[in-house]
Amino acid sequence: MPGIPLVDLAAQHDQVADEVAAGWAEVLKATAFVGGPQVAAFEAEFAEFCGVGHCVGVANGTDALELALRALGVGPRDECVLPANTFIATAEAVARAGARVVLADCDAETGLIDVDAVHAVTGPRTRAIVPVHLYGQTAPVEALPAGVPILEDAAQAQGARRDGVAAGGLGTIAATSFYPGKNLGAYGDAGAVVTRNRELAGKVRLLREHGSPRKYEHTELGFNSRLDTLQAVVLSAKLRRLADWNAARRVAAARYDALLSGLPGVRRPVVLPGNEPVWHLYVVRVDERDRVLEQLRAEGIGAGIHYPTPVHLTGAFAHLGYPRGAFPLAEKMADEILSLPLFPEITAAQQERVVDVLAEAI
Ligand SMILES: *Cc1c(COP(=O)(O)O)cnc(C)c1O
Repeated sequence: MPGIPLVDLAAQHDQVADEVAAGWAEVLKATAFVGGPQVAAFEAEFAEFCGVGHCVGVANGTDALELALRALGVGPRDECVLPANTFIATAEAVARAGARVVLADCDAETGLIDVDAVHAVTGPRTRAIVPVHLYGQTAPVEALPAGVPILEDAAQAQGARRDGVAAGGLGTIAATSFYPGKNLGAYGDAGAVVTRNRELAGKVRLLREHGSPRKYEHTELGFNSRLDTLQAVVLSAKLRRLADWNAARRVAAARYDALLSGLPGVRRPVVLPGNEPVWHLYVVRVDERDRVLEQLRAEGIGAGIHYPTPVHLTGAFAHLGYPRGAFPLAEKMADEILSLPLFPEITAAQQERVVDVLAEAI
């Protein structure tokens, strides 16, 4: 059997190729590459998909996080609490907004932010809490400290639900990424902020466009962080299929669960009650992970690690002063986690092959 990639973007492109080509032809003909009806249409569609009133398209997920923080008024002298085990962008956005990054350890089973740990570090300076819906499963936002704005990092969770409510509508405001490998992926960088709050959405709209409510009027220091028209065309075409693709991911995750259930030495992902994950990643935990990963790759299996280094152990955030051992559960996770290939089009035969090679490695 040929190699099995971690994600297969070509299989996804095949399904939208005609629609994207037709939409792009219109954009090229109009030579209107920024803004336009395509961006407004996608924003309306994605807001509806998330069950919220407002969506503001931006240039990427990291900007989405930063603009959401700035809309919340986060700045110097503020603190924001986020999990130690996340993609670096969550921490970058807080630091770029000028606030102090305060980390919390994760739950030993799910890898989601540990709510007790959040309560322990939340204080009068905490201006926002940034839970991450890691691997496509929503964090237990309802158990986080009350009275502090919640910015959901929903980059991995487009379409995930918690007690029936979609990611993006669980907190005060949410940021998402349409990086190509995400469940809803653009053909380049793209992101969005979603919220039920009209005022916050208006603030993000202002910030993404040079702080400009009207052309050549600049009421505050802003950014250039817009969603390209060409990307909006891709995202609208893919959004129409996202529910089906997420359902296919669920089927594939259930198949891995079944295939792995008889395999001692592989700890399967744990789903919290009330959660409907969208399986951005299927992450197992194994001993001697690096050796197992090497063996999988040698056999052409595109396994990965998300993420090998917790935030506090990166060079970029060493200045926070957290020593090794500060977040033992996040550190243990980083040593054990292994992301198996998962994408909507993965076949049963491909998954069986992944599990065979994994079993052999273990
Ligand atoms: C992808 C991702 C981001 C950042 O998105 P970009 O579009 O790459 O800037 C932020 N947080 C998490 C959890 C992500 O997975």
